[in-house]
Amino acid sequence: MKKIKLLDGENIKVVNFDNKTNKEFPYYQNKGSRYACCPYCCSVVNVKGGRENAKQSIQQRMYASHQASKVNGFELKDYQECPFYQGNQGNWQGVYRINNKVTENKELRTYIEGNRVAIAEELSELTGVAFKNREGVNSLFECLYQSFIDNGGLHRNQWHPDMISRIMLINSAPVEFWGYKVILDSVVNVIRRNKVLGDNLKLNNQFKSDRDVTFVATMDDNENPQRINVKLVWGTEDEIVLKSVPAKIS
Ligand SMILES: [Zn+2]
Repeated sequence: MKKIKLLDGENIKVVNFDNKTNKEFPYYQNKGSRYACCPYCCSVVNVKGGRENAKQSIQQRMYASHQASKVNGFELKDYQECPFYQGNQGNWQGVYRINNKVTENKELRTYIEGNRVAIAEELSELTGVAFKNREGVNSLFECLYQSFIDNGGLHRNQWHPDMISRIMLINSAPVEFWGYKVILDSVVNVIRRNKVLGDNLKLNNQFKSDRDVTFVATMDDNENPQRINVKLVWGTEDEIVLKSVPAKIS
């Protein structure tokens, strides 16, 4: 993993480890060993690579991985099911799972509501469709977020800021798509090439169709997803894939 969590709960990039920890105990321990917490399950992780580690070349990229044994100053949790655990080949997609047994995660709600524009920007980048306008987030964002809440999207124990745009896409139902701007050329081309929707892109690539068109994101495979497909859907079973993005967050 490229992100880690410090003991006070702050999420940082692993490359900022030395600067943020000042090489203090328990982050730094014997023989140059470096530790932090997993940003998802909070179990102890081992920080590897980078120039501080004499055994590695300077070019070695820094990363962190779950540590199997107890380390002084950190908690060892059951990380086998953690989506960031490398050995968890078939289970990392747990990040997309809603847990109806737990109550709404208030921290997650507060984070989303305090970072609406930044999340809208990420959604725009991810999908090629605008989730914000000059005033802030647009109604596509509001509808998607409301659907995410209605579907129980806030009911989860763990989360990470980097996952929010993807979990919002996956945990929401189709939302009405009319009047929104398509911002990515490749997505504009996908729509233009379609026989039915081809002429629905109007001035400034705003999508305005006479049909009932909805926007939805789905997994390519519910058991072992690799991609998230962002689609427009209309009629009984007509659809186009606007963009396909990796489901895995590294
Ligand atoms: Zn973990």
